[in-house]
Amino acid sequence: MAMDAKRSYAQRLRRLWRLVGPDMPAMLMTSPENVRYLCGFTGTEGTLLITRTGGCFLTDGRYTTQAGEQVGQFAVVAFKNKFRAIGRAIKKMGIARLGFESRHVTVAVLKALKHELPSVEFLPCAEVLDMLRAVKQPAEIRTLRKAARIAGASLQETLAYIRPGAAEIDIAAELEYRMRTKGGSAPAFATIVASGPRSALPHGTATSRRVRAGEFVTIDFGTVCDGYCSDETCTLVVGEPSGRQRRVYAAVKQAHDRALGALKAGVALVDVDATARRHIAGAGFGARFSHGTGHGLGLCVHEPPVVSSRSTVIAQRGMVVTIEPGVYLPGWGGVRIEDTVAVTAQGCELITGCSKELICVGG
Ligand code: ZN
Ligand code: ZN
Repeated sequence: MAMDAKRSYAQRLRRLWRLVGPDMPAMLMTSPENVRYLCGFTGTEGTLLITRTGGCFLTDGRYTTQAGEQVGQFAVVAFKNKFRAIGRAIKKMGIARLGFESRHVTVAVLKALKHELPSVEFLPCAEVLDMLRAVKQPAEIRTLRKAARIAGASLQETLAYIRPGAAEIDIAAELEYRMRTKGGSAPAFATIVASGPRSALPHGTATSRRVRAGEFVTIDFGTVCDGYCSDETCTLVVGEPSGRQRRVYAAVKQAHDRALGALKAGVALVDVDATARRHIAGAGFGARFSHGTGHGLGLCVHEPPVVSSRSTVIAQRGMVVTIEPGVYLPGWGGVRIEDTVAVTAQGCELITGCSKELICVGG
């Protein structure tokens, strides 16, 4: 393992212990994203058992070779019976109180663990872990930029396929094919291509509907690169936009720009949300902006912190969030404009790169 990788895992572990507090002697990490974040393992079956001074990594026979290569800082334990092996490791390390990821561990798994370890106290950790991955290290931001570059370049090439008669699913397939061949490992989520009246659906995944002249097409897309997700939305017009389309687009674009302008380290994310919301309400579409302004992203496409009216988080340098206001008019259509940004001391840096001016295609 490279020196700088070792240092960044050590830094992440210190952050974990800081978040769970001094009374937590040991943690059982089970979500693939947190396991990857803390020890580098990229497989789907891995459990990280850690104390403040050591720990071990448990996996099954399919992953022992991979774990040996990726998990340099912890001893790798291969198991046949998962809960028995975890139980044995916990007893061997003399752990009496154990924190676990209560947002991830199922009721059935907790029951199996308690059955193996009747005298161990299990301490649910949810909110305290939410901020574990929120502030990104420079290497993570570089990877997020790479993912966004792949996705953005793929969309540019896909624009030529968006013309009257093209089916939403074919546009999505062209986009996903390009993201894959440019180095993305998978789409970060089901690609949204929502045309015409369907663009009024904030989460309209692509269907067989064919695009028509004069319609909005909302494309919300992302790729995974080295485990990290990109997330960006462009709303285009096929042919010439109408006056109403221009007005709705301008209202969303200005809300997006103002929210970006309001975001910097030290600002409450609830205020960034309010900035976008106020502008859209001022344009007369307040009731038509039906979701939060944005969300954190990284190893997961949606992760804390949220940028919404319920947000309690203050922006910190290195946080990566989306800004994605939208206006949705049922039966007519909608506009969403989304960028991903990294918070800096002075403002924020764009991670996504597609132009957010109204693009007209296939006219
Ligand atoms: Zn999105
Ligand atoms: Zn998003």
